[in-house]
Amino acid sequence: MMDLHCHTTASDGQYSPEKVVAFAKEIGISVLAITDHDTIDGLARGEQAAKAAGIRFIPGIEINAQGTNVHVLGYNIAYKNRAAQDICMANKKLRIKRAEMILAYLANKKVYLTWADLEKYTSGGIIARPHFARAMVAHGYVNTVSEAFTKYLDTKEFRAIRRPRPTAEEAVKMIRTMHGIPVLAHPALQKKSDEALESLLVQLKSVGLLGIECYHSEHSADDVQKCLSLAAKYNLLITGGSDFHGEKIKPTIKLGTGINNNLNFHDEALIYQLMQNKYS
Ligand code: AMP
Ligand code: FE
Ligand code: FE
Ligand code: ZN
Repeated sequence: MMDLHCHTTASDGQYSPEKVVAFAKEIGISVLAITDHDTIDGLARGEQAAKAAGIRFIPGIEINAQGTNVHVLGYNIAYKNRAAQDICMANKKLRIKRAEMILAYLANKKVYLTWADLEKYTSGGIIARPHFARAMVAHGYVNTVSEAFTKYLDTKEFRAIRRPRPTAEEAVKMIRTMHGIPVLAHPALQKKSDEALESLLVQLKSVGLLGIECYHSEHSADDVQKCLSLAAKYNLLITGGSDFHGEKIKPTIKLGTGINNNLNFHDEALIYQLMQNKYS
């Protein structure tokens, strides 16, 4: 089994890179990619732990771009290079600015959180909405992370708080700059029409997109089929992953196997292609 999409405490995951690798080992995953949002901070630790556990490790990233759930995964990125570090540092700073805006927005709604509350969950990594959600649960403002999103963090009003984010094209280019393989993440979660999704793919392919994440915990069988046919039509690599964050953030998603065992992805030829750096 392989899992090419998961998050750690370096971004909005619940578990440290070492813990995620330990879970992977426990359930028999043989190839693991850590793909934290906008950061490479968990990769060195993940790689080291994976090596010790005898798991093949692919250093990855997931860059959140403009638009609803428009995320671009990057595989086999040269994360020790200056370019990757600079890109992530810039994103981290933008997220800090946006977090200040979110704190003000919440205070306006009589939800009073401080930086110290958030830092309990961020472990020095980037700040993302699940950190706010967990602090809100801890302070009793809501009962669950999911409720925090429905009531505060995923509303129309919330979406008006704009964080400067790269366009999808820029995200693809950033990953190429990191010598990585860009893959469009969970296309079905973008909630686009078939036509709009296809035209995005065409546009991104023209700037270097190489793959599409067909298998994902939150893709229906129908979504998977649609993505597979787009992959065939545009000659894109087919990838898959759980998007595991830990049960406190996404309670139904399990590492490797997804939601109710809806994932079972393994493709040696793909691994070979991802491990080569022939695209850089
Ligand atoms: P951000 O990058 O700060 O906008 O946060 C986005 C992250 O929030 C996503 O990557 C998800 O991990 C998480 N997220 C979005 N919606 C939900 C939800 N309903 N429940 C839990 N986590 C969510
Ligand atoms: Fe996330
Ligand atoms: Fe994502
Ligand atoms: Zn993800």
